[in-house]
Amino acid sequence: MQRCTVAAALRNLPTARESIAAVMRHQVMAYTDPGKPRGCMIVLAVTTSTDRNHTVHEHLAEWRLATEDDFRFARELGLPISVHVGMAGFPGSVDTLDKLGLLGPDVNFAHAARLTEREFELIAASGGTIALCPSIDMGMAMASYPATGRALALGIPTGLAVDTTTAAGTDLFSEMRIALAAERSRANAEAVSRDEAVETVELDQRDMLRLATMDAARTWHLQDEVGSLTPGKRADVTIVDLRTPHLDGFADPVTTMVLGAGPSDVETVIAGGEVVKADGALVGAHIGRARELMHESRARLRRTWAV
Ligand SMILES: [Zn+2]
Repeated sequence: MQRCTVAAALRNLPTARESIAAVMRHQVMAYTDPGKPRGCMIVLAVTTSTDRNHTVHEHLAEWRLATEDDFRFARELGLPISVHVGMAGFPGSVDTLDKLGLLGPDVNFAHAARLTEREFELIAASGGTIALCPSIDMGMAMASYPATGRALALGIPTGLAVDTTTAAGTDLFSEMRIALAAERSRANAEAVSRDEAVETVELDQRDMLRLATMDAARTWHLQDEVGSLTPGKRADVTIVDLRTPHLDGFADPVTTMVLGAGPSDVETVIAGGEVVKADGALVGAHIGRARELMHESRARLRRTWAV
């Protein structure tokens, strides 16, 4: 998925929301094939007026209009929508979106960890999808457990994500293990609290691998393009070396990989037919450019925020 860089275009940031939308629309179209903008991601941040004289009701009305406007804008461009909901302290988000008539199969819900049963049912009925963020859900005290079991029970397309790379890393191996442990802990909490030995546990290594691959593709309706090694799909391939001492000698490769492997065990990565990692090292011109951009970003943040 290509990420549109709108920073350059927004350097002379217009204040009117319609003007910002016009600039972004131009940028999105510049980055994508006409009529097929789905491979592009834009990020919209909702901000309210900084006028301290505004009442709470005025701020809420502003948020509502901005949210409706953002959803309409994304749908106009044919882009899928992602919203972060179900975090402690922010109840009722899905209910609110339902009342505004904004739910739909093009909406992906990140976290979704503290939704009510009715909200899960609303997502299921609308065809929406969920991105689990196990490390952040628990590590940032957003919820006691990720939504894994509750989402899967309703058949909601659900995949694994990291949410915040600066706080959770970019490692889906860890997320698979954390999600598995957390879901078993949630499902067995009552029995364990009674000091009972649990005889069977839900979900296994293959479920976790599916959440990180095929199911993650389903959450973005990309299951016909990526998510599995299938003729006709994009050549997205990850090769994990199981010959290293900590992984060698075990029988089942899926179990061994999900429960024991990490990023350093990834030997080769092919993205869309292009080799981006070989012999355990990132390759290609974009690696150096990515590092430059990261350093520029850090320098700008330090200038701006004196960190
Ligand atoms: Zn989030």
